[in-house]
Amino acid sequence: MEELVEVKNLSRKYGDILAVDGLSFSLKKGEVLGFLGPNGAGKSTTMKILCGFLTPSSGTAKICGFDVVDESREARKLIGYLPENAPLYGEMTVRDFLFFVSEVRQLESSQIPSLVESAVAKTNLSKVLDQRIETLSKGFKRRVGLAQAIVHNPKVLILDEPTDGLDPNQKHEVRNLINEMASEKAIIVSTHILEEVDAVCSRVIIISNGKLVTDSTPMELRLSGKGQTVLDLRLAAGIEEKVVSLLNPISGFSSVKPIGSGLVQVSSNLSRSESILTALKIIKESGIEVKDIGFDSGQLDEVFRDLTA
Ligand code: ADP
Repeated sequence: MEELVEVKNLSRKYGDILAVDGLSFSLKKGEVLGFLGPNGAGKSTTMKILCGFLTPSSGTAKICGFDVVDESREARKLIGYLPENAPLYGEMTVRDFLFFVSEVRQLESSQIPSLVESAVAKTNLSKVLDQRIETLSKGFKRRVGLAQAIVHNPKVLILDEPTDGLDPNQKHEVRNLINEMASEKAIIVSTHILEEVDAVCSRVIIISNGKLVTDSTPMELRLSGKGQTVLDLRLAAGIEEKVVSLLNPISGFSSVKPIGSGLVQVSSNLSRSESILTALKIIKESGIEVKDIGFDSGQLDEVFRDLTA
């Protein structure tokens, strides 16, 4: 399969700060890459280099074979970018803005109406087409940002924190859209929300201090978590500490901690079924009711912390 993104030994300095340090990875059509790392890891710098907004200090990056420095015009045509705080022109209507963006991108003028129409349909913006952008909710503004990123039907799409600040329904919609577009493109999603990785990504790269620390699938990443089982126990509010003190002494439970009102998280070296049976038995013997048990929610977080600590 063709490589749509090829990054080789990429480095970028800001003065003395080495923000990106010898990064290499590639991406094929159909792949959705979760691009993860703690704040300051070099994610935005890498994405800006791919989009041609910053030049690398050394190394190369290619979009569909075009070098982002030497063949910047060709590369830019093939890439769509949703920056973290997408600059939108608040006084423009959605329609005017998307036409404006299409003209700036020098799209064929006869094709602009149909390209805008297609981006509007994909992002569900038809109801607000003639509304000024500044009057839209955050969720709609994000969709306008997405529409401008896909209006030229790019082969490579780079989305910086695409669901940041959205409510659960809006997040779901944006993730569906990413999944719908995935087969036709190579998509890079920078995120710090690990559930997003599960929802949309087929691959994960984690960087730390500008360096690659892992390149794997979400499943491999989870399995690398030292075989830990993580249970989230839902109880009545106010008895978290009591349950923590009941479960803490059990050998095999590596950590037991309250993680919110009525929630206790157990990390365990035992199997999932053994962990559940052991925890339930002890809690029930104390006359406490467990309302629900969630699994694994902490696991990717834990692997992420291990790898980037
Ligand atoms: P991330 O997106 O992963 O949070 P960034 O790429 O924004 O990371 O930043 C990587 C490093 O480069 C950080 O140490 C940051 O402080 C530094 N940095 C980013 N932009 C600039 C800049 N314009 N000038 C100087 N240092 C910068």
